[in-house]
Amino acid sequence: MGNYHIKNCDLADFDTMTVKRTQILVRGNRIAKIGDSIEAPADAEVIDAGGMLALPSFADCHSHLSQTFLKGPLDDYPITQWLLRLFRIKAVISPEENYYSCLLGALSALRCGTTVINEMADWHLLDSMAEALKDSRIRATVGISTTDIAENEATPVISIDEALKRSEAVCAKIHGAAGGKLRASVAPAGLPACSGEMMRQLKRFADDRGLIFHTHLGEGRKETEDVRRMYGLGGEAEALYELGILGPRTLLAHSIWLSDYELDLIRDTGASPVHCPSTNLKISDGIPRIAEMLERGINVTLGCDGEASSSNRDMVREARLAAYLQKGRTLDPTVLSADVMYRMMTIHGMKALGYEQMGEIKEGNIADFLLVDMDHDICTFNPDYKLGNFLYAADGRAVDTVFLDGEILLRGGHFTFIDEEEVLYHAEKAIRSLNEKIHHIMNGM
Ligand SMILES: [Zn+2]
Repeated sequence: MGNYHIKNCDLADFDTMTVKRTQILVRGNRIAKIGDSIEAPADAEVIDAGGMLALPSFADCHSHLSQTFLKGPLDDYPITQWLLRLFRIKAVISPEENYYSCLLGALSALRCGTTVINEMADWHLLDSMAEALKDSRIRATVGISTTDIAENEATPVISIDEALKRSEAVCAKIHGAAGGKLRASVAPAGLPACSGEMMRQLKRFADDRGLIFHTHLGEGRKETEDVRRMYGLGGEAEALYELGILGPRTLLAHSIWLSDYELDLIRDTGASPVHCPSTNLKISDGIPRIAEMLERGINVTLGCDGEASSSNRDMVREARLAAYLQKGRTLDPTVLSADVMYRMMTIHGMKALGYEQMGEIKEGNIADFLLVDMDHDICTFNPDYKLGNFLYAADGRAVDTVFLDGEILLRGGHFTFIDEEEVLYHAEKAIRSLNEKIHHIMNGM
């Protein structure tokens, strides 16, 4: 790990939505100094940022990386048919196919400025996924999706004991691996695919070990109605509240079909919804009331979800969609303003996942941050409005440099530690062998 003296970067201030030309010193894995003119150690490598925008890196708070190879084959299906096909395909993915699927997903995330991922994974694909995460060098919190109530004939159902055993195994294999970049979580699929007892026992497991609890909430209208009937309560969040699931270490992917009372419960317990707009729109789940959540002071985060439903691993594209949706839905252009979006992508996500000293560029913090180049692209060029234009006019490919834990993983838009051509060469073989199996499954349905 080296020392870096970054000159001429435009440091973003989300309070004023302005930038300030400044210098940053990275020592080891920390941001050691920020200032107009700083003294750097003689061995520090000087990087002239040439006016690039300096931003904290992003936290993608809901992902299924094994679906990276599944963007395309599941386009435009109704949710029930989509889910059935997804389960059937996932059952036949080989470890090698999954390795490259996850590697491409993690590298896409890094390429677009994400250094932290919150992953809901599949048990039979765990080892190949963990290998891919290690090789990608990204930070990830990993839990296994568990279900004990079948949603269709292809749902892999397990007992509560087995879910606890698997959670134990994830802790042993993942927690603290890759030099601490990987962490374990508990990640039941959510109501109504999990019994209340499974949710309760897994929550206790997570709390005993200080782990994140990651689940889906209120994604489908029909499922929400099913839960209302099953529990005799107003909705899924009320049921989770009664089960003792909601709390500051709980992440709730989607959070669409919720009443005002349920939004209050989420605020009062400190749980964090994860907004995944591409998925919500593409598979027609509905539009969550993010504006009302933020108004209540809820710690709303952002996620790209699995690419079988979102086709996207770029947080900037997700952020833009999120902002436009709420502006259009509320007829209020001031909601989800760019400063709020930046906070959802950075500090809110890091806080929800329990990362301390991350999500902001300040002295003493961990050196996870980005340099963004918009001056060499005719579509985004406007040196005076970079901060807003990165969200509204550009996409994650404008990221030039990614620092993760004080290391440069991306520079000039290219990875420093892995050969992209070689990855794509092997990925092509893996994706073609998987596509053949997918064709076979789809033709038989
Ligand atoms: Zn999901």
